[in-house]
Amino acid sequence: MNQVARIAKLRGPQPVQELGARGIERVARNPDCLRLKALTIAGVSPAKAAQDILNRDDAEAQSPFALVLNQKFERHVMQNGAANLFSLYVDETYLDASESKIVSVGDFAPGDTFAQRRRRETETRRLIGLKLGQDRHAPNLIIKPRLILDYGGAPHAIEPDYLVARDDEPFYRVGVLKSYADRGGKTDPADLRAACRQAAVGVTSLRQLLSDFGTAPALALARCDLILKVTGFFLPTLKRMSVLGEVHSIERAMADAPTSLDEIEAMIPAWGTLSDPAILVSIPSRYHTNCREHCALWTHCREQAVANSSPALLGEHASEYLAPAGSIVRAIELMKGRPGTVARTPAEAIVQAELSRAYRTLSEAANG
Ligand code: SF4
Repeated sequence: MNQVARIAKLRGPQPVQELGARGIERVARNPDCLRLKALTIAGVSPAKAAQDILNRDDAEAQSPFALVLNQKFERHVMQNGAANLFSLYVDETYLDASESKIVSVGDFAPGDTFAQRRRRETETRRLIGLKLGQDRHAPNLIIKPRLILDYGGAPHAIEPDYLVARDDEPFYRVGVLKSYADRGGKTDPADLRAACRQAAVGVTSLRQLLSDFGTAPALALARCDLILKVTGFFLPTLKRMSVLGEVHSIERAMADAPTSLDEIEAMIPAWGTLSDPAILVSIPSRYHTNCREHCALWTHCREQAVANSSPALLGEHASEYLAPAGSIVRAIELMKGRPGTVARTPAEAIVQAELSRAYRTLSEAANG
């Protein structure tokens, strides 16, 4: 069975979704979670899994306010043939006023049918081919290109906000547009990281495309342009960022994918699919306190962590430190040293010695 058929079988009756750059970068945030990997490889978002497979109504969607603001800001920057975006590049001297070749792939074949999506992919390849062939007609700005990222043997469509290059540059860099307020050095680092991770997915897709063209993938530099919003106004600002670390973590997640698929298949019965709630929850997860920031399954996984008294509930450091004990309940047993409590492994013995020493010190201090 080929990889695509294996993935379709794994997914089961749940319809395949386009997860985009946001869906792919989520994996790099928790690379040890097989449940998230399985869903992403199969093309099912955690929000859909929470709602349709686990029948939960507490899955948090993106804030509608943030969504509307982002759409309005994007419309403002991209209206009139991306005129505002182009003037920003000219003002910042990253493009010359004569470098005004702008193509919107979305306008070329709008719509969501299979044929329209395929036309956008083909057009994107054609435009990128022009740049690689040093054609003087190669666009300086490509709005909403449609790239295909192979993740785990299945194609995942990625539509970066835009690609940009001067005429004398050998290749494009990825541009990401967010309605986050640009507060200079005080811009929320979590917002910047999220935007950079999405750009890194775009860079990885471009690198795969360059390999297809037989060109060195490194031509797509691990850099991106980030368009943010002036606080309180609909004015765009431009930051040039390095996304080297983000690209490495996405590339690592890509490289792990086939092994992950083998691992996932080995864990579920031959008749099992991810659309079956019992199967989905049986795939090992790796709950972290920051799961809430990016994965709609966090309420379910937290409940599982509570039921298993998982040290992950106490945060990253405690989770690592108490790993040999396996649970908070067991760590308390070791700490209090009740009669008959014997460490099961040398690693657990070390945790036991340190916890009981700390417990004794604390009891002496508390009791004077
Ligand atoms: S919420 Fe659950 S499925 Fe999602 S990343 Fe965390 S542990 Fe994995």
